[in-house]
Amino acid sequence: MEQDQAAASAWAALASANRIVVKIGTATIARPKGTPNRLTVSLAPESTDTGRGGVDTEYIYRVAAQFADLVKAGKQLILVTSGAIGMGARELGLTKHVTEVRMRQVCAAIGQPILMEEYRAAFGVFGLTAAQLLVTRDAWDDRASYLNLRATVETLLGNRVIPVFNENDCVSTAEIGNAFGDNDRLSAYIASKIDAELLIILSDVECLYDSDPRENPDAKPIPYVRELTGEHLAAAGGRGSEFSTGGMKTKLAAVAIARDAGCRVVIAHGRESRVIARVAAGERLGTLFDAAHALKNRVRWLKNSQPKGRLTIDSGALAAIREHNSLLPRGVTAVEGDFGRSSVVLVNESAKILSNFSSAELAAVMGKKSEEIEAILGKGSPHVVARPEDTAFLDE
Ligand code: GLU
Repeated sequence: MEQDQAAASAWAALASANRIVVKIGTATIARPKGTPNRLTVSLAPESTDTGRGGVDTEYIYRVAAQFADLVKAGKQLILVTSGAIGMGARELGLTKHVTEVRMRQVCAAIGQPILMEEYRAAFGVFGLTAAQLLVTRDAWDDRASYLNLRATVETLLGNRVIPVFNENDCVSTAEIGNAFGDNDRLSAYIASKIDAELLIILSDVECLYDSDPRENPDAKPIPYVRELTGEHLAAAGGRGSEFSTGGMKTKLAAVAIARDAGCRVVIAHGRESRVIARVAAGERLGTLFDAAHALKNRVRWLKNSQPKGRLTIDSGALAAIREHNSLLPRGVTAVEGDFGRSSVVLVNESAKILSNFSSAELAAVMGKKSEEIEAILGKGSPHVVARPEDTAFLDE
């Protein structure tokens, strides 16, 4: 009963979401292999569609039409597109899933302008301008870059331009952990950073099921999730289709990130008729994941940043920072990694802090009392590793 009421009010709230991020997966953007591009065919009947690139132009137009209606209604829309690698691969005539990193980067470099050409054309028909934003993980981890990025997005939105995001796959190197790796998570980071109220993830899955529908024909759809639990995570299958990197697991990871930002997430089938408009109007489609109480911006930034090193601290220090006290060098028992001052560092696998000390400084002062620090590091050196406002617990 209580769950029903919570679900009803969550759905009703979707209609008042002003800032909406829409993520579209590769399988949704691509037209089925061997099928002609209907728009090209109907506009120029004698044209021979070569199938290059493989974007379903008509689908992109339908997306643009829905965006235009929502913008007209005063909403701010952000698009996160996948498909650069997939469309690049099709352009090159590759038929198999591209796994080699270098080749994925090559395909992304080819496919990204193909996507943008489509978005520019389609949005243009409805009087909208599309802007391209290619981002990598470091733009998020470095606070100055992140603030620049956020200012750019705000200004684009203020000018009624549609920001179209993708990962900058050509410079992201998944092997060294410098990549988002999948656009589900990227879309959630974006939603979180720009305080979106709704994230719509469109792909070739309709919703969350209570077990993997590819393995269990009796799998039941779950229309509303108030709180993400281990059961949901266990029920989510593995990877998604052909050229995409996502799957239900990455979608649920995205949900967890968006939740912390107070952003609701709807996962729905991208080919459902007028799916964006209907979800944004509060219609019950797919699975709606309710939001948690939004964490403070700084805490979210810390939680979502890649740590540059690790600290081990003793149980007394851990209890102290749980109680919102500062972390002092005295409680630190080990330092790993090579990081500078003001780096995000993982503490006992359970919290992230912004460290006032570099790794070398910490190695020199760990276990020492506050009054001994200046003698070791010199006058004016910090005394505190991290203050409570620079500490975020991962389970918070
Ligand atoms: N950035 C990748 C692309 O444009 C997509 C990653 C994903 O599928 O999530 O192809």
